[in-house]
Amino acid sequence: MRLILLGPPGAGKGTQAQRLVDRHGIPQLSTGDMLRAAVQAGTEVGKRAKAVMDAGELVSDAIVNAIVAERIDQPDCANGFILDGYPRTLVQADAVESMLAERGIGLDAVVEFVVDDKALVGRIVKRAEDAKAAGQPVRKDDNPVVFEERLREYYKKTAPLIGYYYAKRLLRSVDGMAGIDTVTAEIEALLAAVTRETVTAK
Ligand code: AMP
Repeated sequence: MRLILLGPPGAGKGTQAQRLVDRHGIPQLSTGDMLRAAVQAGTEVGKRAKAVMDAGELVSDAIVNAIVAERIDQPDCANGFILDGYPRTLVQADAVESMLAERGIGLDAVVEFVVDDKALVGRIVKRAEDAKAAGQPVRKDDNPVVFEERLREYYKKTAPLIGYYYAKRLLRSVDGMAGIDTVTAEIEALLAAVTRETVTAK
């Protein structure tokens, strides 16, 4: 199964991706995590991405496309993967399409998390507090000021993907404001429906 999780920062994509990993045994490919690892490791990519990420802006399409293209060729992606936080622009969406077409594979679904923006900043602040309480590092971009910029970037550059995937009949929406277990159940139900449609079409 190959999925894209689409939604603004704080929508719950990472939490649900983790549950999908456990349930379906396919890896979560979070470009945010990969970029943070590159920053941590001090690689060339990390050096170029750091200031952009700290400001809440998007890293260049060329950088993230290259990271993902390399990652999906790893053996653990053979049975599928969950793209979390990628694609985030129309250029990236076209890149995914080419990447998959070149490998003779396709997407099963794009899961859109429908959320109330006003509640998101509260979630981000809580995520930072929880990380701090657990003695984990707090993300530099998890604060209300940078969050505003991340949300602006989402509406300017990422939200157009909703129409893009709707037109491709891949878009499925879940209520991202529901409780974590309810969202998981919604996702499982829609994936079961997608699987049934695929089987029927064959
Ligand atoms: P995330 O962990 O998904 O919230 O991503 C954290 C930051 O990493 C974003 O605010 C961007 O600066 C960068 N980033 C992650 N994924 C992408 C992407 N697909 N395209 C561009 N920048 C990204």
